[in-house]
Amino acid sequence: MQFYEVIIIGSGITGASLAYELVRLGVSVLLIEQDKNAPSATRYSYGGISYWAGMTDLTRSLAAESLEIHRENVGALDLPTEFRELPLIGTIDHSQDPIAVLKTYAFFTKQPQLLTPAEAVELEPLLNPDGIAAALLMPHAHINPIATANAYCQTMVRLGGHRTYDRVLTISSESDGVRVHGKLETYHSDRVILCTGGGTRSLLRDSGLAIRQYFSHAESIETDPCDLQMRSVVMPAEIGRFELERSAAIDDGPWEAGLTGHNQDLTPPILDAGALQFADGSLRFGQISRTQTSLAPQSSPETSEQWMRSELAKILPKVAQVPGRWVTCTVAFSADHLPLVGPVGDDRRVQVFSGFSNPMALVPATAKRFAHQLASDKNLVASEPDKELQTLLPSRFGMS
Ligand SMILES: Cc1cc2nc3c(=O)[nH]c(=O)nc-3n(C[C@H](O)[C@H](O)[C@H](O)COP(=O)(O)OP(=O)(O)OC[C@H]3O[C@@H](n4cnc5c(N)ncnc54)[C@H](O)[C@@H]3O)c2cc1C
Repeated sequence: MQFYEVIIIGSGITGASLAYELVRLGVSVLLIEQDKNAPSATRYSYGGISYWAGMTDLTRSLAAESLEIHRENVGALDLPTEFRELPLIGTIDHSQDPIAVLKTYAFFTKQPQLLTPAEAVELEPLLNPDGIAAALLMPHAHINPIATANAYCQTMVRLGGHRTYDRVLTISSESDGVRVHGKLETYHSDRVILCTGGGTRSLLRDSGLAIRQYFSHAESIETDPCDLQMRSVVMPAEIGRFELERSAAIDDGPWEAGLTGHNQDLTPPILDAGALQFADGSLRFGQISRTQTSLAPQSSPETSEQWMRSELAKILPKVAQVPGRWVTCTVAFSADHLPLVGPVGDDRRVQVFSGFSNPMALVPATAKRFAHQLASDKNLVASEPDKELQTLLPSRFGMS
C-alpha cells in the first residue's frame, strides 16, 4: 500500500499550484483528477490577472506576491503559461454614470484611468465607440489558465510528485490516516486537500462533512484561432457576477437541497459582456452566470448563445460574429469573496483550498503560503503559523 503525506483532489489552477508548491518542499504528494479533459472552471476561464483588485492588506500582499510568482513561472515551469501584461478595458454603458463607476474603484490598490469612447477605441480598435459612454483603463496581466495548470502538474511530476486519474466518491478519516475512496481504487494519506471547485460541497456532504461554499454556472463561447486581433481584455467596468454571488450566498437551505437534486434558480441570470484572445488567436467571450443550486442545471445553449452574442455585438461587433462553441462549467465562491483555506471542522486531516473569486490574482501566493503551513505541520520546514491565512479558515462561516 502506497502512503502519501498529502493527497490533493482536483487539478484545476488551485490543485495544480498547491501540488507543485508541496512537492518543492519535499512533501510526498498524489494529485487525483477525475477527467483528463475536465470541463472545469480553469479550462474555460479567461485567465485575467486582476492584480490591482486587492482591497485589504492580505489581498494586496497576496496579489503582489502572486504577480511575482506568475513572472517567475515563465522560466521555472516546464511548459509555457503564456503570461503577459495585457491592459484591461472596463466598459461603461449609456445607462451608467462614468464618475460613479470610477468611484467604485476607490478602494483598489491601483486606480483606473477614465477614457472617452474615442480614447478607448484608439487602444482597442475592435470596440464600437457608440456602444459605450466611457471606459476605464487598468494595467492587467494574463495567463492561459489550463496551460498554467498543466505546467504546474508536469513540473510537479518531474520533481517527484504523483498524479492519477480517478473520480473520488468519498473521503473517510480513520485512526491511521485518511482514506480517499475513488471509483477505481482507495488511496491512503495523512492529509487530503480538496481543490474540487464547484464540486467541493457535494463531495464533502457525501463524506459526512459540511462547508459553506457555493457555485455559479458559467456559460461562454470559445472559438478556434481567428484573424481578428484584440489588444486588450474587455470586460464591463462593473462586474455583475460579484453581486450575483453576494445575493446567492445568504441562505444555505436551497444549496443543501440542491445536493439532493432539488434545483432552485436563486437569482435571475446575469450577463457580463466581455471578451479576450489567447496567444494562439482563439477567442473566449460571454459570459452568463446563473445560481442554480443543482450541479446538473437546466439551460438552453441556443438561447444563451444568442443572448451573449447580441449583448457583445453592442461593444465588440466583429468579435460577436466569430463562430464558436457554447461551453459551461461551475465556478466556486464563498460568502465574502475570499477563499476557503484550511481544515473542514476540527480534524486537520481534511482541508480545502477553494472558493477564490479572482483566483488568477491570488492563487499562486496563497498556494505557496498554504504549502508552507502544511509542510510545517509535518515538521518538514520550520515556519511560524501564517496568521493571515488563519483569516481564510472555512470555520469563519460556522457549519464546518
Ligand atoms: C468564463 C469564465 C471566465 C473566468 N475568468 C476569470 C478571470 O479572468 N480571472 C480569474 O481570476 N478567474 C476567472 N474565472 C474563474 C476561475 O476560472 C475559477 O475560479 C478557477 O479556475 C477555479 O479553479 P479551481 O481549481 O478552484 O476549480 P476547477 O478549475 O473547477 O478545478 C476543479 C477540478 O477538480 C476536479 N474534481 C472535482 N470533483 C472531483 C472528484 N470527485 N474527483 C476527482 N476530481 C474532481 C474537476 O474535474 C476539476 O478539474 C473565470 C471563470 C469562467 C468560467
